[in-house]
Parts: sequence; C-alpha cells; structure tokens
Amino acid sequence: WPRRGRMYGFHQSFKISVEVSMQEIDYFAAETLDDVYNLLAETGGRVIAGGTDVIVQMQRSAFPATALIDVSRIADLRFIREDTGGIHIGALTTYADVLASCLLHEAAPALIQAAATVGAPQTRSRGTIGGNIGNASPAGDMLPPLLALNAEITLTCAAGTRILPLDDFLLGPRQTCLAPGEIIHSVSFETPPKPFGAVFLKLGNRSGMAIAVVNAAAVLLLDAQGRIATARVALGAVAPRAVRCLHVEAVLAGQQRSDGLFADAARAVQGDIAPISDIRGTASYRRQAAERLVRRALRQAFEQARTES
Ligand SMILES: Cc1cc2nc3c(=O)[nH]c(=O)nc-3n(C[C@H](O)[C@H](O)[C@H](O)COP(=O)(O)OP(=O)(O)OC[C@H]3O[C@@H](n4cnc5c(N)ncnc54)[C@H](O)[C@@H]3O)c2cc1C
Repeated sequence: WPRRGRMYGFHQSFKISVEVSMQEIDYFAAETLDDVYNLLAETGGRVIAGGTDVIVQMQRSAFPATALIDVSRIADLRFIREDTGGIHIGALTTYADVLASCLLHEAAPALIQAAATVGAPQTRSRGTIGGNIGNASPAGDMLPPLLALNAEITLTCAAGTRILPLDDFLLGPRQTCLAPGEIIHSVSFETPPKPFGAVFLKLGNRSGMAIAVVNAAAVLLLDAQGRIATARVALGAVAPRAVRCLHVEAVLAGQQRSDGLFADAARAVQGDIAPISDIRGTASYRRQAAERLVRRALRQAFEQARTES
C-alpha cells in the first residue's frame, strides 16, 4: 500500500488517496510535528506510525478514519536517552531500536524481554512503542513492563504538552485518554536504583508470533538489608486493559524473601484481574496462568536484584 493515489503539496507534507479493503482514505505524510498538529486539526484524521496495527484493523474495517496522518518520518520522535529525570523513549522508537539499546539492556531488561517477544523481525523493525501504547490492546506486550516501571507518558499538541501516568492514559480495550489533536510524544520512567530486578514473561499459544494469553512484568527494588523496598507488578490480557497488581504489591512491600512470600503474593493477583474467555484461553485458565507467571516473575526479579547487590 498505497495502491493508488494523486500526490500534491500540503504544508510541508504530501497527500494521496488510498484504498484499503474498499475503504477510501486520505493519506498525509507529515514531515514535522507542526505538520502533524495542523493536519490533525484540519482533517480530523488519525495517526499512523509503523502501521502494524492500523493496517490490520483497516483490513477488518475496525479502524474508522477518513484521513491518516503518517508520523513515521518525524525524526524528533525517535530517540532513547537518559537525563536526570530518567529514561525517555520517543514514540517512534521501534522494537528493533529497543533491542539495540545498551541503556535499556542495563536499566530496563524487562522492556528488552518484552520487545524480543513481539512478532517477527519485520514487525519489530516497523512497530513502535508509541503504537503499542496508542493501540491500547489489553495484551500489548510493552504495557506491563512500562506500568511496572511506573512510566509516564508525554502527550503533545499545538497548544502544549501534558504528562500523565501511563496507568491513567489506558482506559480500556483500544481506549485511551488521547484528546483530539494530541499525539504520543514519548514515554519516560525513573532509572531504577540498584539493586533492582526487572522481568517480563509472556505465555502464548506458541513460542513465536503469538498474542499473549497472559503477560506479566515485575520490578523489585531491594534495600540495603535485602528487603523488598518497592515492588511493582503488572499484567496484560487478564482485564480490559493492562493492569498494575496492587494486591500483589501490598503483600511484598517491606518484606524479606521467604519461601511462602512469592506464593502468597501471587495468590493475591486474583484480586487484581478480571479475565475473560476467548479463542486464546478461558478465564479460569488465565487466572491459573496469571498466578504462575507472577510467582515466576517475582522469583526471577528477586534473583536478578540479589545478583546485583
Ligand atoms: C504480524 C504481527 C505480529 C505482532 N505481534 C505482536 C506481539 O507479539 N505483541 C504485541 O504487543 N503486538 C504485536 N503486534 C502489534 C503491533 O506490532 C504493535 O502494537 C506495534 O507496537 C504497533 O506500532 P505501530 O507503530 O505499527 O502502530 P500503528 O499501527 O501505526 O498505530 C497503532 C495505534 O496507535 C496510534 N498511534 C501510533 N503512534 C501514535 C502516536 N505517536 N501518537 C498517537 N497515536 C499513535 C494509531 O493511531 C493507532 O491507533 C503484532 C502485529 C503484527 C502485524
């Protein structure tokens, strides 16, 4: 795609008309952020980045839009950097970029593990972190690790910038609080202080190219005595949106590791989730799998942190 079209000047961008699954749609390739804001205001269109969700949804007539604003050429949205405020990842950062980042290997191994499970190399080189967030799938693989890292999301529009917790941004299946005219600019989180462990685990119906039946992330920060100073756990595919597991976290906070601790904490996940049955698994299977995954993620995160300390 595009399969047919006429090109003409529009701001600094170009426009063509394309047809995807009998749906005719105007396509604008934006060159700058100002282009994007102007085009969103003038067309009421929707953003496309890597297109790995949008095109599939358009083919199923599940992406209502009269215009697509392509942001994929905007270099200002593709970065991974660290400053005193933490680590910042631009919305256009691809999974391949994440996997190639030494900074993220060091500071956010759960993001690396999650990115490595997404699709195949083709999807990982086109799909973006902003697209995974914007798509707000309950099973999106980057969402649990970002929630467990307590990530904040930066939204920008012609009028300015707002920053809010990712937890507040996700409202439900494919629903976010993105306002008209806004785009996802970046996602940020504090660099975890050492010693910490950060783990992502995914259960799918096969080992590759699988949408998660359940996915889980755990971040544990230890204090000088080896106690769990902070525990953040998040799950996907077990509720209408990826969720923080506050019941699990409450069991862990301030505790020394003991034989029963991670089992007790994992049992508490039942209070955090509301899974449904679908083609990938039943609700009761997901409940059992969630408990297992949480226990395993906690053990692995704790071992990672202990090795570091
Ligand atoms: C074969 C295949 C395998 C896949 N496997 C997985 C998998 O294992 N795990 C997984 O989680 N996902 C998977 N996906 C889904 C997809 O690759 C990811 O969700 C990807 O991150 C989406 O990014 P994108 O840039 O392609 O988004 P797009 O498709 O371009 O956009 C997705 C949504 O986000 C919005 N959006 C994108 N960027 C912005 C922005 N900057 N500001 C505002 N809104 C924005 C769009 O409007 C749209 O609603 C797979 C997809 C395919 C086709």
